[in-house]
Amino acid sequence: MVRFGIGFDCHRLVGGRKLMLGGVEIPHDQGLLGHSDGDSLCHSIADALLGAAHLPDIGHQFPDTDEQFLGAYSIDLLKEVGRLVGEAGFDIDYIDSVVIAEAPKLGPHYSAMQSAIADALSISEQCVCVKASTTEGLGFLGAKEGIAAMAVATLSNIERK
Ligand code: MG
Repeated sequence: MVRFGIGFDCHRLVGGRKLMLGGVEIPHDQGLLGHSDGDSLCHSIADALLGAAHLPDIGHQFPDTDEQFLGAYSIDLLKEVGRLVGEAGFDIDYIDSVVIAEAPKLGPHYSAMQSAIADALSISEQCVCVKASTTEGLGFLGAKEGIAAMAVATLSNIERK
């Protein structure tokens, strides 16, 4: 059986923090605010994976009231999600994603992000796609107030392979 999961996340851009997306530090004058590093791409992928495996979402797995996850690198949380998905009896077949950011330009970082995500989940880089888009200046994302991400994950049952 093939399962699909969808994930969405958004964090506010603020000064004085480094910008982490897909587990990669991206040079920028602002970073994402969050209990963890605010990596909206990792968070959306984590929720897509958890959803496909019918597991409780990222807010349940890593509560933002838990000091243990304060300042956590989300790529490490994603690694734990990969472990949970495997434990639930699924292989990760494919992840597609899109980051919605007016700035910075993310094209030069696609490859590094895909590599970091694939590494965290112990899958091939060919099975992770990261893209980016803008809202053409519209709304809060267009005003550079935050960075959002959406992801879709495909899982298959380990027993069926
Ligand atoms: Mg989040």
